[in-house]
Amino acid sequence: MRTISRRTFLAGAAAAAIHRGSASAQNRITRLILLGTGGGPRPRKSSSAPAQVILCKDVAYVIDCGNGVARQLAFAGVPLATLRHVFITHQHSDHNADYGNLIWLAWTAGLRSQVDTWGPRPLKKMTALFFEMNKYDIETRISDEGRVPLAPLVHVHEIRGDGAVMSDGNVKVTAALVDHPPVVPAFAYRFDAPDRSIVISGDTSPSQNLVRLARGADVLVHSVMYPPAIDRLVARVPNAATLKASILAHQTSAEEAGRIAQEAGVKTLVLSHFVPPDDPEVTDGMWLESARRQFRGSVIVGKDLLEV
Ligand SMILES: [Zn+2]
Repeated sequence: MRTISRRTFLAGAAAAAIHRGSASAQNRITRLILLGTGGGPRPRKSSSAPAQVILCKDVAYVIDCGNGVARQLAFAGVPLATLRHVFITHQHSDHNADYGNLIWLAWTAGLRSQVDTWGPRPLKKMTALFFEMNKYDIETRISDEGRVPLAPLVHVHEIRGDGAVMSDGNVKVTAALVDHPPVVPAFAYRFDAPDRSIVISGDTSPSQNLVRLARGADVLVHSVMYPPAIDRLVARVPNAATLKASILAHQTSAEEAGRIAQEAGVKTLVLSHFVPPDDPEVTDGMWLESARRQFRGSVIVGKDLLEV
């Protein structure tokens, strides 16, 4: 991975940096673009909420739908109508806030074909209630703009445990339970394509089940925290003590993510879902140094819109 160009687009008050992967990365059959790399649901200037997209032969597989995922796909140059599969790792708002919005907005962008969604309960109920909540707009656009009915396009699959999720001509997807209490179940997903294997950890404390899932993978995208900075992060909120205990118990430090990557024997560890997401005192060098303490492969500090 190598960043060969960097352009800045201004959109309203927000600026988003676009990172393009190397020419060789873009020529891959199976591409991975980080859409949002900041942990936590609070909207920030510095990074979007967790989401990734894997692209293979003009088919988009989106993993997690943090706030802004549809717009991040637009910034990444991914046509929304190519959305085919959506995977939710767990039902926390930084991972699912725009689950329904992504599908709804993709439909307004021309989506007319089947979308399968995969994730923990209550995904079916969430999907049904989302369509119910937005019935007025959906029915108006069907009658006024001639769009196809939306709800029949969406096929929801609730995942309950470890094992095979789906496969098509491009990828084989496997889920593994990870440890992110009290959110149960929470999953990591592995995508095996002919040219590379990619694992997305979701949120988890250090997980041996994730080690098993990630064994020998080319790329592991792992959520990370930087424990010394958690006090500064929680100092902004009234529920500081509870929030700190929750973060420390349910997430993985960058050093531990390195240990897990080493134990699993992955080639490249991509740090993402940063907690804290926007502390200027925690530099890229500090994240790298932590992850490299126990991992001898290559480490990438994830950025929004970075192609890996
Ligand atoms: Zn979470």
